[in-house]
Amino acid sequence: MKIFYSPHYNIDFGWLNRIHPFDGCKYAKVYAAIKDLPGVAIEEVAQAITLDEAREFANDLLKLFYVNKRYILNALALPYISLLPFSYIDRKILLPMRWAVAGTLAAAKHALQGNNSWNLAGGYHHASRAACEGFCIYSDIGITVRQLRQQGLLAAEAKILIIDVDAHHGNGNAALFKEDKNVFLLDAYNKDIYPQGIPADITKERVNIAFPLATGTNGHD
Ligand SMILES: [Zn+2]
Repeated sequence: MKIFYSPHYNIDFGWLNRIHPFDGCKYAKVYAAIKDLPGVAIEEVAQAITLDEAREFANDLLKLFYVNKRYILNALALPYISLLPFSYIDRKILLPMRWAVAGTLAAAKHALQGNNSWNLAGGYHHASRAACEGFCIYSDIGITVRQLRQQGLLAAEAKILIIDVDAHHGNGNAALFKEDKNVFLLDAYNKDIYPQGIPADITKERVNIAFPLATGTNGHD
C-alpha cells in the first residue's frame, strides 16, 4: 500500500487555530501513526499544483474569487480580518491545499497502474468549478479527473466511484459531476447538519447511493 504525503499538507495558521474546529495538522499525526506499519510505503509528493492549474479548472467567476480575501475567508469558515494579508492566507492555508490536490493526482496516477494508493489529504468535497465552501477551496477530485482525462490516462467512458464518508453531504462533487454519468457517488452523511436547504437538496438527488444518517447514529441502528 502506497500512501502519498507531504509535510506541506499541514495547515498551521497560528492563533487562528484556536477559533476553528478543523485540525489543520492532523495529516502529520496520521503520518506518524501509520508510517512504520507493515505493508505501508510512504511516497512524498514532489510539488504542489500551481495556482494557474487550479484556476484553469475553475469557471470564470471563481477564477476571480480565488484571490478575493473576503470570499476565501468565508469559504474557510473564518471571520473577516482586515489586517490579515491575503498572501499570509495563501501561504499558510491555500498552498497546503494545493499540495493536497497534487497528492490526490499523484495517488490516482499510481492507482491507475494497478496499485493500492491513498492520499492523506484532499477530499475537498464541498468545492466545485463554480464555488468554494466548507473549508474546501480546490476540488482535488475534479482537478484530478480532468487532468487524467486530458492526459489520456483515463478514458472518458471509464467508470469512477467516489466513496464519501465525511460527516457532510458532498455537495461540491455532486454539483461538479451533475451531468457526468460515468461518475457514481456513494455518500454517507449526517442529514441534520450542513449543507442544508435548496441547493443541497438538489445535489443530494444526484447521489447514486445515499446513506443519510441521523445525528447520534451509533453504527448499530
Ligand atoms: Zn465536509
